[in-house]
Amino acid sequence: MEQNLLEVRNLKKYFHTPAGLLHAVDDVSFSIPGGKTMGVVGESGCGKSTLGRSLLCLEPPTSGEILFRGKNIANLKKKEMKAIRPKIQMVFQDPYSSLNGRMTVRQLIAEPLLVSKLCRTRAEVDKKIDEIMDTVGLARRLDMAYPHELDGGRRQRIGIARALILEPEFVVCDEPVSALDVSIQAQILNLLMDLQESMGLTYLFITHDLSVVRHISNEIMVMYLGKCVEKAEAKEIFRNPVHPYTKALLGSIPIPSVESCHKKRELIQGEVTSPVNPKPGCRFAVRCPYASERCRQGDIPLKEVGRGHFVACHMAE
Ligand code: SF4
Repeated sequence: MEQNLLEVRNLKKYFHTPAGLLHAVDDVSFSIPGGKTMGVVGESGCGKSTLGRSLLCLEPPTSGEILFRGKNIANLKKKEMKAIRPKIQMVFQDPYSSLNGRMTVRQLIAEPLLVSKLCRTRAEVDKKIDEIMDTVGLARRLDMAYPHELDGGRRQRIGIARALILEPEFVVCDEPVSALDVSIQAQILNLLMDLQESMGLTYLFITHDLSVVRHISNEIMVMYLGKCVEKAEAKEIFRNPVHPYTKALLGSIPIPSVESCHKKRELIQGEVTSPVNPKPGCRFAVRCPYASERCRQGDIPLKEVGRGHFVACHMAE
């Protein structure tokens, strides 16, 4: 049986705002076996980035457990977290704004090593930088360049190098290709998959784009307003989506063919409602064409509708 590297149990992250309590992540549970990828998809504001930041304890969770190699890291003290931090890293969405424009490529890649004090000598740091630049496909001649002199793909390779130089086991990839051109997206996705294989990495891959997550994920979790509404193996989600929101997300993937123009798609109407003081019941009810009175009464738990396929919807029963 596969060992889970990460196990998340009933994770909640709420924020106090002047308007009330914002439920960014609300009772989310999942696990990721070592060397696998969990894709997290949903519209902007569904809580997927907050979930990723909570796993790194950049946003301390309101409640719940985050078990990394069986140890709950949800509320560790600063010193204890410092020891685990190199093992859990993040690749950010915008490789331009996440890099300090006044630092050279070499300085940017060296920074995590120097902060974590994992190397004893400068020669050791330099050797590691050269190695990681080769690993992520950055030419060594670019080491004195500044981020603004490079294209988006190379900048994202710097972001990946910064995350991987500490030899992590688990990496949260927060929309790592959304800010890139389509042709560069494929290069970065392939690089992430190659690195996963060669370094045995485990990923949480956050995106709003189901067509991107399809190729990289073993399992997919669909989030809506802080809740997990559907979770299954990637192939199963695409073959047999059950939740009306997942169906609508899949329906929104553009298909470049004339026949597809005539096919009826389930598109979502309306806008995402506020996650501040959410009403009881299904959070998708205001936009769901199948909503009934029953959907507005009480929470809708995830139910297993097939092997490893969980859905939070009355229609799934
Ligand atoms: Fe729609 Fe009701 Fe299912 Fe929610 S529980 S997705 S409102 S049918």
